[in-house]
Amino acid sequence: MQYRRYGKDGPEVSVLGFGAMRLPQRKESDWGTVNFTRATAVIRRALDAGVSFIDTHHNYHRGLSEEAIGRVLKRWKGRRIYVQTKTPFYREEPLDYFKKLIEQALTKLGVDCIDYLLFHSMNMGMFKKRGRAFFRLTDWAMKRGLIRHRGFSSHDKPENVKAFIDTGEFSAMVLSYNWFNPTMAKSLAYGAGKGLGVAVMNPIGGGALAAGTPQVRRLLPGARSGPEVALRFVLATPGVAVALSGMSTVAQVDENTRIAGRKSYMTPRQRGLMRQRLKRVKRKFQQVCTSCGYCMPCPHGVDIPQNFLLLNQARYLGLLEWARTRFGQLRKRRSGDRSALACTKCGKCLPKCPNDVPIIEQLELTAALLGA
Ligand code: SF4
Ligand code: SF4
Repeated sequence: MQYRRYGKDGPEVSVLGFGAMRLPQRKESDWGTVNFTRATAVIRRALDAGVSFIDTHHNYHRGLSEEAIGRVLKRWKGRRIYVQTKTPFYREEPLDYFKKLIEQALTKLGVDCIDYLLFHSMNMGMFKKRGRAFFRLTDWAMKRGLIRHRGFSSHDKPENVKAFIDTGEFSAMVLSYNWFNPTMAKSLAYGAGKGLGVAVMNPIGGGALAAGTPQVRRLLPGARSGPEVALRFVLATPGVAVALSGMSTVAQVDENTRIAGRKSYMTPRQRGLMRQRLKRVKRKFQQVCTSCGYCMPCPHGVDIPQNFLLLNQARYLGLLEWARTRFGQLRKRRSGDRSALACTKCGKCLPKCPNDVPIIEQLELTAALLGA
C-alpha cells in the first residue's frame, strides 16, 4: 500500500480509501440493510491490507454504514485509521439536528473525534444559502473536539468548486473523477495546490468501468482488469491523495489493494499514451453524437444524447451489460420512458442536430442492441 498526505497539514493516509456505501447487504434488494458479519470481514480485510482511510455518510445504508465501521474499529488494534463522514446539510433543519447527527456518528463509529466531516453534495446554491451555518456547526464541533477538519463533497461545475476552495475554509474535498469522465482533473490539482486533502469518488465509475473488456484493457497495456485501468489512472492524476472505492467483497478488496500496492501507477509516457487512446475513443463517440443536446427536448421524452452515450459505451468500449442496465433504468424513469423505445419517429429533432445525426435510425439501433 502507498500512503500520501491528505492535505497540506493532514495525515498520511492510504491511497486506497474504503468507500462504505456498498457494504454486503442482508437483503440483496434493500440498501437499507447490512450483513454485519460479511461487512466486518470485508472492512477488516481492507484494514489488514493497509487501508487506513474510510469514507462514509450519515445515511449510507440508512445509517448502518457508520455502525458497521464502528463494529470493526472498536476491535481494531492496528495502525491509526482515519474516518471521514458526511452530513446532509442540504436539509433545511436547525443546527441542533446536525449536532445530534454528529453525536450519533461518534457513538456509531466508536471514536472520540471524527477526522473529517463533509458538507455532502454541496453546490453553489446550497453554499450561498447554508454555507455560513455549516461553518458555525463545524466551528462548534471543532471547539469541542468532536471533529478535526471540515470539507465538502460536490458534483458542481469546476468554476464553483474553485470558489469553494478559494474560501480557504475547507481542509478536504471529494470530487467525482475517472478516465471516462475526467472533467474535474484541473479542480483536483487546484484543490491540492491550495492545501486541501483531495479524495476521488467514483474512480471506477460506480462499477461501470470495472468490466475488463479488451477495449478497456487496451487503454493501459499490461493492466489485468477494469479496476486496474481505472485506479491507476486516478492515482496517477496530479493532486489526488485518495481514491475511494466502494467495496462489497473480499475479492474486490484483494484486487484493489493489489493495484494500490504497486510501486508506480503510471509513468508519464504511459499516461500520455492513455490520454491519446482516450482521445481516439472520444472521437469515435463523436462520430455518433457529440452530446451537445441541441436536439432536446424531445416531445416524447426520449433522452437522445444519453441513449447515444450508452450506444457508444456498448459499441466502442464493450460495456454492453452496463449499457443495458442503464438503458433499463432510462425506460423506467419516474418521469416516463426516456429510452430509445419511446421514439415515435416524429422527426422533430432532426433539423435541430448540427451534426446531421440520423437520430431515428441510431435510436432504432440503440433500442435493438440495448432494449432486447
Ligand atoms: S424522432 Fe423520436 S427522438 Fe426525435 S423528437 Fe421525435 S420522438 Fe423524439
Ligand atoms: S443534436 Fe445531434 S449531436 Fe447534439 S445531442 Fe442531439 S443527436 Fe447528439
